[in-house]
Amino acid sequence: MSHDCLFCKIARHEIPARIVHEDDEFLAFHDINPAAPVHLLLIPKHHLASLAEIGPADGDWLARMLRLAPEIAFANGCNPLPAGGFRLVSNTGTEGGQEIDHLHFHILGGARPWSNRA
Ligand code: ADP
Repeated sequence: MSHDCLFCKIARHEIPARIVHEDDEFLAFHDINPAAPVHLLLIPKHHLASLAEIGPADGDWLARMLRLAPEIAFANGCNPLPAGGFRLVSNTGTEGGQEIDHLHFHILGGARPWSNRA
């Protein structure tokens, strides 16, 4: 873990967050500045900067993280399919709009219309 990383601090419970899911590998919590009626962030507890650092050895935990996204989305206010759904966004690098350098998935949902800001 990176000691100065905001999301590592949230993962260590050193900074408060509205946590909706926690297990040994992952944490999900409400975004502090929501861009949609439901705006959650899903992170791995271990530190890596972004999807750009994913390598061949990361397939298993990344697949588990992807499988968690719909589970967390639909358990926390995203409306069911087919009328509902959610967006999954992972801003990567400066030109990708990434501000916090710890891999995270934005889970965005709730009744439209809402912005595309995240
Ligand atoms: P962007 O701000 O462009 O979406 P990122 O993709 O890096 O950049 O997303 C970082 C997200 O983290 C933002 O949506 C921001 O609102 C959120 N955020 C920042 N600090 C906190 C915090 N302490 N708790 C929860 N969410 C946070």
